[in-house]
Amino acid sequence: MQLDFTAQLREKRTRVTPSRLAVLSLLEKEKRPLSVEKIITAIGEDAIDYVTVYRTVTLLKELGLIRQIDFHHGHAHYELASLGDHHHVVCVKCDKVAEVARCNAKRMEQEILKESGFSTITDHSLEFFGICRNCSI
Ligand SMILES: [Zn+2]
Ligand SMILES: [Zn+2]
Ligand SMILES: [Zn+2]
Repeated sequence: MQLDFTAQLREKRTRVTPSRLAVLSLLEKEKRPLSVEKIITAIGEDAIDYVTVYRTVTLLKELGLIRQIDFHHGHAHYELASLGDHHHVVCVKCDKVAEVARCNAKRMEQEILKESGFSTITDHSLEFFGICRNCSI
């Protein structure tokens, strides 16, 4: 499915720029969380620089179009928010990432609300770490 990122940006009342479209299209194509470094490599250092990518992902995150994920790599990864609620399992040896489609967080949220006295849970972040089959041989 080809997403209309121009329409999405307009809907958020923000400017449609080549770098914003490039980052969104790349994340759609890759369908996996990418670091700022990987985004620069994929788009090309001649076309985009670190500061632009950094500002772009920060803005897109604020707009709710992308989500930030922490794989404990010391830098953030980003993926499209429209991929829906899912999680990842990361190999601590080779950094292989697999998607975890199931999410039981909604049920946990009910318990958390009861126990914490909070009035709402707006989001959650949950990643799993382990050793992939290749690395366990
Ligand atoms: Zn994902
Ligand atoms: Zn591995
Ligand atoms: Zn979830």
